[in-house]
Amino acid sequence: MSSFKTLDDLGDIAGKVALVRVDLNLPMKDGSASDVTRVEAAKPTILELAEKGAKVLLLAHFGRPGGQRSSVLSTSMVVGDVEGVLGKELMFIPEVAGPVVAQSIGILRNGDIGLLDNVRFWPGEEANDAEFAKAIAENGDFYVNDAFSAAHRAHATTEGLAHHLPAYAGRAMGAELKALDAALGTPEQPVAAVVGGAKVSTKLAVLENLVGRVQHLIIGGGMANTFLAARGVDVGKSLCEHDLTDTANRIMDEADHAGCTVHLPYDVVVSKEFAANPASLRTCNVHEVAEDEMILDVGPSAVEALGDVLKTCKTLVWNGPMGAFETEPFDAATVALAKTAAALTQEGSLTSVAGGGDTVAALAHAGVKDDFTFVSTAGGAFLEWMEGRELPGVAALSA
Ligand code: ADP
Ligand code: MG
Repeated sequence: MSSFKTLDDLGDIAGKVALVRVDLNLPMKDGSASDVTRVEAAKPTILELAEKGAKVLLLAHFGRPGGQRSSVLSTSMVVGDVEGVLGKELMFIPEVAGPVVAQSIGILRNGDIGLLDNVRFWPGEEANDAEFAKAIAENGDFYVNDAFSAAHRAHATTEGLAHHLPAYAGRAMGAELKALDAALGTPEQPVAAVVGGAKVSTKLAVLENLVGRVQHLIIGGGMANTFLAARGVDVGKSLCEHDLTDTANRIMDEADHAGCTVHLPYDVVVSKEFAANPASLRTCNVHEVAEDEMILDVGPSAVEALGDVLKTCKTLVWNGPMGAFETEPFDAATVALAKTAAALTQEGSLTSVAGGGDTVAALAHAGVKDDFTFVSTAGGAFLEWMEGRELPGVAALSA
């Protein structure tokens, strides 16, 4: 893992101005946040800086204002929610640079926290404009990035600021990077990857990267259908990208050469209609799917065998559910495999890292979210990391 500075590397920061990039892009319902997980994640960093006497200025984006001010997309909308989590009052500052920010800093006492307005009100943010970053940097003494979820974007406050101020990874950012490194950077082998979800096309780059890095590639979900079809299986009415069967075959060849075993289901749960507990529900061998049936989950025998594969592994990285888990009973394979992974993690034999919007929901549904070694809530950034791409926000911290 490339090295980066953390809050441990800060000297005396009493009275210094910390510019802290956090993720406050909270889902809203009726004027307040419906989920404050992102604030909880940034809380240790914010409070640590405040307790050490810094004047903490929070930088965040909120929605997609497209480079213009918009009253409903002001970060002032989340002041109450952030205060609730932090247990401290915030000073809202309706700018990100310039004299209004400078005056506000004059009013803040050491250990106080200010929230700057939505960084995306200014076109310079998404353009990663150096002048814009410099103008923000002028009011700060150092920069802390605690928003891993935005690290796949090279924007002024996620990347550019690191070129104008001493830059540090916040606590959440540091924990995320450590977990991701343990899963795919320098993992203990053998490594298993579970890749599921709806479509191969959205995860091609992920698959290509993984075949060269893991010993076991477990493919489930809708994407398994495309791989099964590539192997000559008739998948009936299943979700399947028939135009990608050549690609699927190429990935399986690459896996072969790299010594990676690809695991596809050999039994499956099928139904004629996509509904909860349908009358036509049955479990069958993959070669017995009728032309009017759809594969909606991995079968119980395959799940058991996959559990045995995990027992031989030291590391697991997981993205994508094994079946259409939102609809019962097509959550069974995802839940069973997640429980096996969680139990192995708790026994200490497996390091397990998972991420992806639906994956986090599926693990929560299985009741094992807290039993994995690390669950990343960063959707896009997590996937780009699984693709093996360098994230600009992370690279800038390592420079
Ligand atoms: P993530 O958000 O974790 O990256 P994806 O968005 O790629 O995951 O995929 C999740 C979706 O895949 C879920 O909505 C799930 O219902 C769907 N899915 C999984 N297996 C199947 C299947 N066999 N047929 C149709 N949809 C499926
Ligand atoms: Mg998704």
